[in-house]
Amino acid sequence: MNRLATLVLLGLSVCSAYPVNGDGKEEDANMDLAQRYLENYYNLTKKVESIYRRKDISPIDNKIREMQKFLGLEVTGKLDSNTLEMIRKPRCGVPDVGHFTTFPGTPKWSKTHLTYRIVNYTPDLPREAVDAAIEKALGVWKEVTPLTFSRMQEGEADIMISFAVGEHGDFYPFDGPGATLAHAYPPGSGIHGDVHFDDDEKWTEKAAGTNLFFVAAHELGHALGLMHSANPEALMYPVYRSFKDLAGFRLSQDDVDGIQFLYGAPTTPKTNYVTPTEPVPPRSKTPAKCDPALSFDAVSTLRGEILFFKDRYFWRRSHWSPEPGLHLISSFWPSLPSNLDAAYEVSSKDTVFVFKGNKFWAVRGNEVQAGYPRNIHTLGFPATIRKVDAAISNKEQKKTYFFVEDKYWRFDEKTQTMERGFPRRIEDDFPGVEPKVDAVLEAFGFLYFFSGSSQYEFDPNAKRVTHIFKSNSWLLC
Ligand SMILES: [Zn+2]
Ligand SMILES: [Zn+2]
Repeated sequence: MNRLATLVLLGLSVCSAYPVNGDGKEEDANMDLAQRYLENYYNLTKKVESIYRRKDISPIDNKIREMQKFLGLEVTGKLDSNTLEMIRKPRCGVPDVGHFTTFPGTPKWSKTHLTYRIVNYTPDLPREAVDAAIEKALGVWKEVTPLTFSRMQEGEADIMISFAVGEHGDFYPFDGPGATLAHAYPPGSGIHGDVHFDDDEKWTEKAAGTNLFFVAAHELGHALGLMHSANPEALMYPVYRSFKDLAGFRLSQDDVDGIQFLYGAPTTPKTNYVTPTEPVPPRSKTPAKCDPALSFDAVSTLRGEILFFKDRYFWRRSHWSPEPGLHLISSFWPSLPSNLDAAYEVSSKDTVFVFKGNKFWAVRGNEVQAGYPRNIHTLGFPATIRKVDAAISNKEQKKTYFFVEDKYWRFDEKTQTMERGFPRRIEDDFPGVEPKVDAVLEAFGFLYFFSGSSQYEFDPNAKRVTHIFKSNSWLLC
């Protein structure tokens, strides 16, 4: 309950029909709209209001950037027309960022058989249509997990499903037609696990209007413990999209990965969904994450998560839980080798490049891209280079840094060429970093260089090492 609690009191009451009497007023109205959106969904605190609004550097600008990044818009920090258009779209009432981190532990059900109850009905649809939409929406998740559901006609079920308008007893009043369509609570007792639909929407069973099945499938994702995804292909993307091909609806790999991270794959495969997160079978020589001598082969981000590669395995630090899970590389990407040398993500291409010896592969989600592996010399390395030790791609600069022994190369992602003037010595540009780099990661504005069991936190602005940690500090050791 506290997950939604602090933000909601700020309300969503006004959402359309601003008088447009000249630019100034329209600008103010747009800013009010944006501010409420950021308060509701991006944890913007109320007090920044109007104090900072007129100043050049505003916390709102940063929140606008955060929102643009999450929703896949161009990150301008300004209320441009695309951003305003996005803000006006109907969406889910659950916030996008900020709250799951304060929620203790991983919100998931500790059992695999769950009960649900449809408490009341919308007048928009026949009862059977509502029943069918909910059942189908549950089926979406049932298909890819060991979860099963049974319906209760009365009493307290795990997932209580209801339609309501305006204030409906949970401090998160609905807002009339448009804007917020529904919301749901993460797993737990009482109101947790419950799903509420705004009955001021026009619910439909067709592609036109607000499709009940689609919104229910999304909200049930929350009721099972999923947060919003920044992947616009995902069912768990927060903004509602009308979609034409109802029969062809399919979860994205992002949704499947998220729910299987919580509950695992179905015990007997129910469909041909890829099930990459199957638990690692107990075998000898599984690396121990808290071994003080632990080193990594490679580290990369992947769609906001961080992957730490070691031998045949990798740890995955996900949004859904700070507790890293161990997986076989082959269970995600059967054609990739083990004992990788380097890996990095180019997020603008939604692609991770992984290196071993003189070969590299391009991976998107759990798919290795066609045309790979390629030879590393196609990137412009001289023939004397046999392997890459570590690599990182900088989003802002659009440059990729390759570390090889005591030197590094820089690759221009725009021109797809190795830059002139390289290699340079690591110690000249990254003083304090051990020259033999195993892996490198960028986070919180720092570079983290892994070398054996040590990790060097490097501040690229101050050009110095600010901390040294154990390599496995990311694995909560
Ligand atoms: Zn949602
Ligand atoms: Zn509610």
